[in-house]
Amino acid sequence: MKNIWNCTIETVAQQDSDDSFIGGIPKLPPEISIPTCTLCSQKMSFMFQVAFPKGHIWEGKTLALFYCLDCFGHRFCIPEIPLGSSLYHVEIPAGFLDSYQRNFRVIVFDTADGVPLKNDCERVASRKIEFHLSDKNDKDAIFTFGGKPIWVMGKNETPGNYATTEKLKLLFQIKEGFQFPKCENAPPQASGFYPDKRSPFPWYDLFARNRIYFWGTDARKDAKVYISVQHS
Ligand SMILES: [Zn+2]
Repeated sequence: MKNIWNCTIETVAQQDSDDSFIGGIPKLPPEISIPTCTLCSQKMSFMFQVAFPKGHIWEGKTLALFYCLDCFGHRFCIPEIPLGSSLYHVEIPAGFLDSYQRNFRVIVFDTADGVPLKNDCERVASRKIEFHLSDKNDKDAIFTFGGKPIWVMGKNETPGNYATTEKLKLLFQIKEGFQFPKCENAPPQASGFYPDKRSPFPWYDLFARNRIYFWGTDARKDAKVYISVQHS
């Protein structure tokens, strides 16, 4: 076994004991509040959170992702790209992994500190994420943890270091094309493609439905996350 986990997504009622899930009610340390989008000042929406399993380099930590579903038309439908002649081994300057979080926010905490937030305005419908230990990344798994990046554009865009010395390692990937299910009566995602500026679809897109790669620094020091994407 190579400490690789492919995940399945289950449609079951959310339990307070669940630590890895899409949508529903986030489970966060009580001092953390729902982040606000720096582009449009709306509250961001909770997309998913994952508790890294035993044997993963971020074992014991949870990563929660919030994203703004209410603004569009800016250049940040995918995360800002660090400057460089290529993304392969690109060096990411100190501060970048904080300043690039405009319409999304990554929250990392000790899994044991998470408690269900009771007053969240839910938009993404809840789905449980189940981990299955494997020895190979499955390109069709919605979430796959550890292992190697699956490059859908054919080119290797493994980053270099953060702040000169902090190595970035692949934490997990989200499959391209994934549609985050929308709660029935939740407001649609803002979109520039329709006359009323609202997506007509019963789902939400994260980072324009690209394949999404999450890279992390050494979480025992200061956990920082670099998010990159590729389109198929
Ligand atoms: Zn916004």
